Amino acid sequence: MVAHVGVISAGCHFPSRPRIPQFYFAKRRPLAMAALSDDPVREWILSEGKATKITKISPVGGGCINLASRYDTDAGSFFVKTNRGIGPSMFEAEALGLSAMYDTGTIRVPKPLKVGPLPTGGSYIIMEFIEFGASRGTQPSLGRKLAEMHKAGKSEKGFGFYVNNTIGSTPQINTWSSDWIQFYGEHRLGYQLKLALDQYGDSSIYEKGQRLIKNMAPLFENVVIEPCLLHGDLWSGNISSDKNGEPVILDPACYYGHHEAEFGMSWCAGFGASFYSS
Ligand code: ADP
Repeated sequence: MVAHVGVISAGCHFPSRPRIPQFYFAKRRPLAMAALSDDPVREWILSEGKATKITKISPVGGGCINLASRYDTDAGSFFVKTNRGIGPSMFEAEALGLSAMYDTGTIRVPKPLKVGPLPTGGSYIIMEFIEFGASRGTQPSLGRKLAEMHKAGKSEKGFGFYVNNTIGSTPQINTWSSDWIQFYGEHRLGYQLKLALDQYGDSSIYEKGQRLIKNMAPLFENVVIEPCLLHGDLWSGNISSDKNGEPVILDPACYYGHHEAEFGMSWCAGFGASFYSS
């Protein structure tokens, strides 16, 4: 998918996330004092990335928001996204999401390696480069692997995520809640309805939406809802497969939610019957 226009606070902190390593994150020094390299991407690849030379840099198409490149080196390939206008908070949130999914050891996602600011403003993310296969993989294996991720990605903090992130370029609010109906009503439907009202001024849709929010609870009667890790933006552009035909998911808007919320983008994801039955 798509990424991101950040309303995310650059000062976010991440309570209780012991498995998210700190090394993704650039040191937070005031920019005026920071001795930023002219090319921090190249510098990281040639140091912590363990390459001694970069042999080729090629543009990668298909993204919606950021500039994407492939860096080929003598230590393998890296995938790099840069954004000239937005600080590192957007890519930090993406790295946290990728890392949370990666750590489940279930479906394949690119391993995030480094996030930081660019000297001219903006930010970058470096991650594992994945060589894609010819197809999107099979529906049964995508369904099964996704279910494995949902089952493995548990939350002790309820519904939400460690930081706010973005879905497309729209902010996504992830304030923790112990109650799915409250979370979904306020931070998903309610937030989107308010954005739509502000943008288009259509109060009739807003009011219908508010009625739905007030009347949602009976739809969930007797349903046990456990927060589980969601990709959060699972449309066809964010689903691929690797060279072995194993499914790969990319560019997430992760949060912990009701597993069926993952199918909210199914209208443009192309899931078939065999996906759901798996
Ligand atoms: P944006 O944030 O601009 O939407 P994406 O994350 O969707 O960008 O990435 C743009 C394109 O780059 C994707 O459509 C995909 O084809 C390719 N891509 C994304 N991640 C990787 C990766 N880790 N390795 C190789 N190619 C990737």
